[in-house]
Amino acid sequence: MQVAIVLPVYNEEGVVEQTHARICAVVDSLPHEIKFYYVDDGSSDGTMKDLRALAEKDGRVCITQLSRNFGHQAALSAGMDAAQGEVVISMDGDGQHPPEMIPQMLNLIEQGYDLVQTQRMDEAQPASFKKWTSGAFYRFINVISGTRVLPGAADFRALTRPAVEALKSMPEYHRFLRGMVSWIGFNTVILPYQPAERISGVSKYSLAKMTRLAMDAIFSFSLVPLYVGLSFGALLFCLAAAEMVYVLSFWVTGQTSNLAPGWSSLMFVILIVGGMLMALLGFIGIYVGYIFQEVKRRPVYIVKGKYSDGK
Ligand code: UDP
Ligand code: MG
Repeated sequence: MQVAIVLPVYNEEGVVEQTHARICAVVDSLPHEIKFYYVDDGSSDGTMKDLRALAEKDGRVCITQLSRNFGHQAALSAGMDAAQGEVVISMDGDGQHPPEMIPQMLNLIEQGYDLVQTQRMDEAQPASFKKWTSGAFYRFINVISGTRVLPGAADFRALTRPAVEALKSMPEYHRFLRGMVSWIGFNTVILPYQPAERISGVSKYSLAKMTRLAMDAIFSFSLVPLYVGLSFGALLFCLAAAEMVYVLSFWVTGQTSNLAPGWSSLMFVILIVGGMLMALLGFIGIYVGYIFQEVKRRPVYIVKGKYSDGK
């Protein structure tokens, strides 16, 4: 089989070489034709130099350099667009996705699966902010989204050509690949793994980037936030009806003098209603923003150059 390995990298100077060596140690003995598609996501350090050096030594290395940092999901998309071959494997360039799983993934593909999705098992990991927010995020997205997103799904997966083409046919600007791969369907198998330590360097997923990814997932895979308004509206309507009955009961029984001038309850209602209206306007604003970005039909990424020095 022709197998393409896609690796997005952003400021991974001194890391890519080791990642590459580790992957080669596993795949070189396989009877497949392997090619590497590195995507430099606008790195500002020496990553590009490292990649060029790699490409000079190893003729199977192709590099796509993006014109700026477009983000992990865009870089992955760029890699999948560049990748040739019957099977495409995507993985991180920081060594956290164990290459030792590649033979098993390819085995499953040969057995007829179209999509081998790995699942990060972090029960054994110490509690951390990232682990907690990630757990909460997956629970939340699965409650509000019609598409099931596998908890702990990693962007470490093997796809056959038809599955890759299906992903490529989705032109959306806000890309959440973990949702998109489950949306396209296909014969999928899940492989759990224990994440390794980063070879070196720090996570390139800042809090802002994690928030953006979570927003992309929520607002492009769920309309539930829009319905929140409808439910609140209905609830308020019921409350109003109940209040009407309550007030009427004073009139019917002739006790109108007992009706206290309820300043506090009034304020409370005004604040709640105001808050809800603002929150809903916010939700609608976000969806309108997403629609705006989609209708502009901007490309997901811009390629600055392509290199494969071994050619
Ligand atoms: N990455 C990227 N663009 C970005 C952020 C990250 O290409 O804007 C790459 C990064 O170099 C790595 C992979 O995506 O190969 C996963 O990122 P990272 O390891 O920083 O995330 P974490 O493992 O901490 O979730
Ligand atoms: Mg990582």
